[in-house]
Amino acid sequence: MLIATNALVLKTIPYGDTSVISRLFTEREGKVSILAKGAWRKKSTTGSVLEPMNHIHLQYYHKYSREIQILKDCGFSAKYTHIRNNLHRTLFGFSIVEMLDKSTLDNNPFPILYRLGWRVLEKLNDEKNDVYSIFAFFLYQLSLRLGFMPEINQCRKCKSQLSTCIFDEQLGELVCLACSHQGKLQMDEKNMAFLRQLENLHLDDLETIRADRHSVLHAIQFLEKFTQFHIESLRRMKALPLANKLLLSEGMQ
Ligand SMILES: [Zn+2]
Repeated sequence: MLIATNALVLKTIPYGDTSVISRLFTEREGKVSILAKGAWRKKSTTGSVLEPMNHIHLQYYHKYSREIQILKDCGFSAKYTHIRNNLHRTLFGFSIVEMLDKSTLDNNPFPILYRLGWRVLEKLNDEKNDVYSIFAFFLYQLSLRLGFMPEINQCRKCKSQLSTCIFDEQLGELVCLACSHQGKLQMDEKNMAFLRQLENLHLDDLETIRADRHSVLHAIQFLEKFTQFHIESLRRMKALPLANKLLLSEGMQ
């Protein structure tokens, strides 16, 4: 069966002398691996189209009995040049792609998550937009779409209204100071106010958010801990630890 769809390129590895195998997050079929024969031959542009993080359109031959599908042709929908020209944006772009890869299953369509992925990368590609706010938005939406909504209004233990609170490492949730016994990440009132702005926020309204850098960085730390607590496959990441080093250098304690 010939399938035409759009996709985000998650990962590409060489296969033989001139071919590659790419893992794609397709709009129609979810995560799919495809073999691109001769992608790196001199006259072929396929190799550059199949670079990780690219947004592409493609046609491929799909057989459900086969683990790796065969590419017919492909082309760019977006290259995200401004992401690639900037180290911060590149690391967070790759973190987004990596998290999508780790949190989805093969041949399991997830169009909402696919759309979140390319829409967020599009925002990241606009130099006017704040890298960290976009990443916080992505993390919040990712956990929501995967079915893990963080409770940011009530203490998970005593149900009191949360103001200053702590991420409880055993519970994987925010608890008030009276209920906390362990946890290194403390969120103050301003940090929580930023998190609450992410609820019901549309991506196009991201620029309207008012928050200090410190609050955005704290929200990211919380959302990373939260998603990694609830989704085991997100604990082994390559790009994210590098992105986190940048976060730390931006003023996280
Ligand atoms: Zn409590």
